[in-house]
Amino acid sequence: MASLNDIRSTFLDFFVRNGHRQVDSSPLVPRNDPTLMFANSGMVQFKNLFTGLEHRDYTRATTAQKCVRAGGKHNDLDNVGYTARHHTFFEMLGNFSFGDYFKEQAIPYAWELLTREFGIEADKLLVTVYHTDDEAANIWKKVAGLPDERIIRIATSDNFWQMGPTGPCGPCTEIFYDHGPGVWGGPPGSPDEDGDRFIEIWNLVFMQFEQFEDGSMKPLPNPSIDTGMGLERIGALLQGKHDNYDTDLMRSLIEASAHATSSDPDGPGKVHHRVIADHLRSTSFLIADGVMPSNEGRGYVLRRIMRRAMRHAHMLGAQDPLMHRLVPALVRQMGAAYPELTQAQPLIEETLRGEETRFRQTLDRGLRLLSDELARLPEGADLPGETAFKLYDTYGFPLDLTQDALREQGRAVEVAGFDAAMAEQKTKARAAWTGSGETRDAAIWFDLAERHGATEFLGYDTEQAEGAI
Ligand code: ATP
Ligand code: MG
Ligand code: MG
Ligand code: MG
Repeated sequence: MASLNDIRSTFLDFFVRNGHRQVDSSPLVPRNDPTLMFANSGMVQFKNLFTGLEHRDYTRATTAQKCVRAGGKHNDLDNVGYTARHHTFFEMLGNFSFGDYFKEQAIPYAWELLTREFGIEADKLLVTVYHTDDEAANIWKKVAGLPDERIIRIATSDNFWQMGPTGPCGPCTEIFYDHGPGVWGGPPGSPDEDGDRFIEIWNLVFMQFEQFEDGSMKPLPNPSIDTGMGLERIGALLQGKHDNYDTDLMRSLIEASAHATSSDPDGPGKVHHRVIADHLRSTSFLIADGVMPSNEGRGYVLRRIMRRAMRHAHMLGAQDPLMHRLVPALVRQMGAAYPELTQAQPLIEETLRGEETRFRQTLDRGLRLLSDELARLPEGADLPGETAFKLYDTYGFPLDLTQDALREQGRAVEVAGFDAAMAEQKTKARAAWTGSGETRDAAIWFDLAERHGATEFLGYDTEQAEGAI
């Protein structure tokens, strides 16, 4: 069975054979781009090549890009542990053309790799195209021989990509795999498309137009290609699994978590193990790329993910800090492909251990308060916002951690009450504030970040509207 490490190589080798330059993943913290919180797709490091601001000595590239989607428009944090296909950290495999080949070549490459190189049954594949993109639909028909009903036309922004409010944009085509009628979910474009039966594996973006401020759109002189395929999703498929978390790599992390807590990886704690395996990857890779837990910006997103994982470890009955003990399993799996992980191993372990040691002091007490409160409430009632705020303010529970804890019981937080309590505290803090600008700025940042998601506050919305492909 091909491992995820093998599959990554097969992808890159295929495009290298076809004249692409293999380029390393860029760090998760984008260089020269303060507007974007984390790299969330393969195209991020090539932005200036697509807009023509920068030229290099190659016009075709292929990468395996580290991505984090845990904030802003592309926030998959709440999906983790529950869907078969989402991670906060994942690897996006991509091939890129900077004014070199276009649709006529990008579609055949994708089809050849999937059906010949990877040997996927053509009958199980279906694609979406933007509703007006006859060109793409015709190429699919010709190259793949797909019948019309498996070339689905979609009119929403799901199939029209934009780098931002202005700049390069164009239609895209998404390739789906049908896992069969045993799995819930409808085909793309149908009312129940959110299930996991039809899993999107690859997205090909055709950068074809430039969008101007006045709303007009002109064809680009040299259209470009930007594609992204989740390694874990293609891996699941090739390993005969439906669920990303059943791939060799994710499974080994789940088993490390189960072993360290003497529990059953598939027992009642299953969701906890999945979340821990996922969050272990995102936190470790973020630390390796220089992010440290803090109360603002990127560091706060990291802290939120860390604390969330720590609650799941607690739920498994872990008596001592757990996360740092799982790092060696991750380094064994991914250290060869990402040497920065091996280099940073001591720092990652130390940071996780320190953070978990400190958080455990308030975690136990916060969870006890939460369960006392819940016992008092009528069955199924939402948690009052003031309680969620107290957990945040006194016990260091990020709001999303509390929401995650309640989800297991089918309950929610009264977010309006939480916001009101937060606003009241800020007003008091401002009234009492006499010191240097720093503390107050941090408090305001924290407030905005908490309510709107840190990424938006950094301007994610404007720069990366529909962001990654
Ligand atoms: P979905 O609709 O399933 O959430 P997407 O359309 O948001 O996926 P894209 O932005 O098109 O995803 O990213 C390109 C590819 O990256 C996807 O086709 C998928 O294979 C993979 N991918 C996207 N988000 C995730 C994630 N959170 N975890 C794992 N793989 C992902
Ligand atoms: Mg998505
Ligand atoms: Mg999609
Ligand atoms: Mg997509």
